[in-house]
Amino acid sequence: MIHIKEYVEEKERLLTELVNDFDEKPVLAIIQVGNNAASNTYVKHKKSDCKKIGIECQHHHFEENVTQEYLEEFLIKLNDDKKVNGIIIQLPLPSHLDVKMLQACVSPIKDVDGFRKDSPFTPCTPKGIIDWLDINEYSFKGKNIVVVGRSEIVGKPLVNLLIDRGATVTCCNSKTNQVTLYWHLQNADMVISAIGQPKYFNSDDFLKATIVIDVGINRDENGKLCGDIDPEFFSEDLPMTYLTPVPGGVGRLTRVSLLENVMVAYTIQNEIEFEF
Ligand code: NDP
Repeated sequence: MIHIKEYVEEKERLLTELVNDFDEKPVLAIIQVGNNAASNTYVKHKKSDCKKIGIECQHHHFEENVTQEYLEEFLIKLNDDKKVNGIIIQLPLPSHLDVKMLQACVSPIKDVDGFRKDSPFTPCTPKGIIDWLDINEYSFKGKNIVVVGRSEIVGKPLVNLLIDRGATVTCCNSKTNQVTLYWHLQNADMVISAIGQPKYFNSDDFLKATIVIDVGINRDENGKLCGDIDPEFFSEDLPMTYLTPVPGGVGRLTRVSLLENVMVAYTIQNEIEFEF
């Protein structure tokens, strides 16, 4: 497998070259409300990613008590701003705000997170994973792939992308019978876990999977970043299985996909013909 770090660095290099060829810098607007610690970190990463490749990043940071109405009007203004190519709303939002209504205010053509059903963009995490598997020439046809998690932004779009590529896909969730879940895991050629439970699975849970993709970003009992899968003993017990690391795995694929979506938004909005 091509390691995620090298793959992402190469992509960033190519994106930097492309931005240099554009007349103006693509612009990403990030909406953040309040001071959620995880959101602060994610926004910081997104800003530094943009800076690295030459995308201009506008960070619109609102007080915790900002109203729904104010944000909706603000988003509509961003939609009308021709300079802004992509808009993302950093989640989670405070509970008084209606996330779905706000996402619906973002013009589909600027919805680079792919939250809207009519967005032309593939959500960043599924896109990042599939693009990386494609580069590795992973042969999906006839493979048994298990996706654990069925969220709108990770599990469900992943299932569709995998089906499109000819894989046989099983999607498990919190209601899946435990015996059934572990049977599917043991019989899978690939497992993708996106449940958000620290170190929930371990090397004993897999038998024949050659690739285990850990989407989870959690904190363990010591407050350390970890995935859904306990990496301890993984390489000893399953030496032939590639487990994506946390941190430095799917998170990086997600981040580079966002940059790509912004670039695509820029080319569409400026009617530039481009192949990525
Ligand atoms: P959600 O909470 O929206 O969805 C979690 C899904 O996992 C639900 O479908 C839930 O089932 C299922 N689930 C939870 N516990 C179990 C269990 N024990 N067994 C089987 N299924 C279970 O989370 P997201 O999809 O937004 O995110 C998932 C994880 O991925 C989080 O840790 C998040 O931080 C991380 N993430 C990482 C990204 C990255 O770039 N690396 C990007 C996005 C998310 P049910 O529907 O029945 O409740």
